[in-house]
Amino acid sequence: MNEHDSELIAGMMEKKGYILAEGQNDADIIVLNTCCVRETAENKVFGLLGRLGKLKKQKPHLIIAMGGCMSQQEHITPKIKQRFKYVDILFGTHNIHMLPDLIDKAEGQKKQVIDIWSERKDIQEGLSVKRFQGIRAWVSIMFGCNNFCTYCIVPYVRGREKSRQPENIIEEIKELVSNGYHEVTLLGQNVNSYGKDLTSGIDFADLLVKINALEGLNRIRYMTSHPKDFSDKLIMTIANLNKVCEHIHLPVQAGSNNILRKMNRGYTREDYLELVKKIRTAVPGVSLTTDIMVGFPGETDDDFADTIELIKDVEFDSAFTFIYNKRQGTPAAAMEEQIPDPIKIARIEELIALQNEISLRRNKMEVSKILPCQVEGPSKTNADLMSARTSTNKIVIFQGNQKLVGSLVQLRITGYGLTHLEGEVILAE
Ligand code: SAH
Ligand code: SF4
Repeated sequence: MNEHDSELIAGMMEKKGYILAEGQNDADIIVLNTCCVRETAENKVFGLLGRLGKLKKQKPHLIIAMGGCMSQQEHITPKIKQRFKYVDILFGTHNIHMLPDLIDKAEGQKKQVIDIWSERKDIQEGLSVKRFQGIRAWVSIMFGCNNFCTYCIVPYVRGREKSRQPENIIEEIKELVSNGYHEVTLLGQNVNSYGKDLTSGIDFADLLVKINALEGLNRIRYMTSHPKDFSDKLIMTIANLNKVCEHIHLPVQAGSNNILRKMNRGYTREDYLELVKKIRTAVPGVSLTTDIMVGFPGETDDDFADTIELIKDVEFDSAFTFIYNKRQGTPAAAMEEQIPDPIKIARIEELIALQNEISLRRNKMEVSKILPCQVEGPSKTNADLMSARTSTNKIVIFQGNQKLVGSLVQLRITGYGLTHLEGEVILAE
């Protein structure tokens, strides 16, 4: 979501007459689009700000702007005012569209320009977007989150759920298709609650039906699905629509009911396993990926063992694994029984080792299958090879040429690794 916001920022800047600089040293303006979901991201920003301070001393005309989720936290503004006086502009997640005006303001004065809104007023439509993703495009369908998982900062920095009107989403996708995009990824913190705030009664399944009907579009992806809101109607819709990819990112977070309750996730381990069963029955071959966290306050060895058991039971295709860390202002940060770092580290290492074993095994199962894959461009690890993606969101590298970019090819899977498959072309479009 942040990366898509960066595309929006770049689009607005281009419209204002700026061009992308080669690097920081060539830039007249540097915009930091920050994330505060986890501590490491936040620390990186402070490190970068320190380095930019030195650059600004050499280039006094340089404008430094900081936006994103971090700016939205209350304790950040005073810190930027006191310790990072050379930051010219501080803006938030709800007023990204104001950036061009804030730049004009900053150019004319020496004082810091600070403009942060506590809530998004209206959804801004029709802003220019500079897409960085090649043939795939991100499309926000909603903003914010109402769930307040006890560890999570997102609802505080992104506000309450607000869905875009379906006609605006359709319009954007039609334009993307006419500009040569064949694949969209619909974005929302919890796409399954799309439409709950709209008066028309539309839900996420209905939206998928509308998008599936668009000519010229090959593939539809979406992120993120919250397990507690995954309805039977949605499962059947996904199963029946030909363009909706066979991949669901379904963050489980933990395998222990005790921890899930303390996290305020709104489902039990049993609910989750039941949901996985239903999805796998309705969509055979679907790939499931997840987010898992270790070291939530009060997590005992038994709780962690439940997580390990669940991972073994479900066999996810891959997982993002996280060490819990305190986010200021969230309920979990004030909970007693914070887990010591060495225990957290031992748990995540065990978890990663297990998941790697499973991912490798599941990738091996793909060998000798013939799969339709969308070609994305040269491989990031070996420029002599091309990279394509299966409907199940697995990367396949293969011998091919640039002309194939954007087309669907049939690839026979010949090999596998932890994070990719290898293949050969059977049939090109
Ligand atoms: N809306 C998505 C998640 C967005 S945040 C959902 O509900 O699934 C992405 C991931 O970051 C989360 O799934 C969670 O695993 C992780 N995360 C969030 N807050 C965290 C924290 N305080 N410490 C560690 N990981 C965290
Ligand atoms: Fe955070 Fe939970 Fe909302 Fe996801 S659903 S963004 S984890 S509060």
